[in-house]
Amino acid sequence: MAFERLPEIVSYGLRLVQNCACTNGCPSCVFLSRRPDGNRDVSKAGALNILTHLDAVLNRHDKEQDKDLE
Ligand SMILES: [Zn+2]
Repeated sequence: MAFERLPEIVSYGLRLVQNCACTNGCPSCVFLSRRPDGNRDVSKAGALNILTHLDAVLNRHDKEQDKDLE
């Protein structure tokens, strides 16, 4: 299930947005090509901020779980 792989998915999304060569967002990272408003309110900086925090929380949580198993 996607929920069980959420830390991996968030980490992938963060790397994708971080490594995109654009400055303010593009269809390769945070924009959807069919949005009727032209992605007016979509923010690459905002996406990076959210993904960075989610990645830190989710992937730190995983490491703590691993410690409990040792
Ligand atoms: Zn981009």
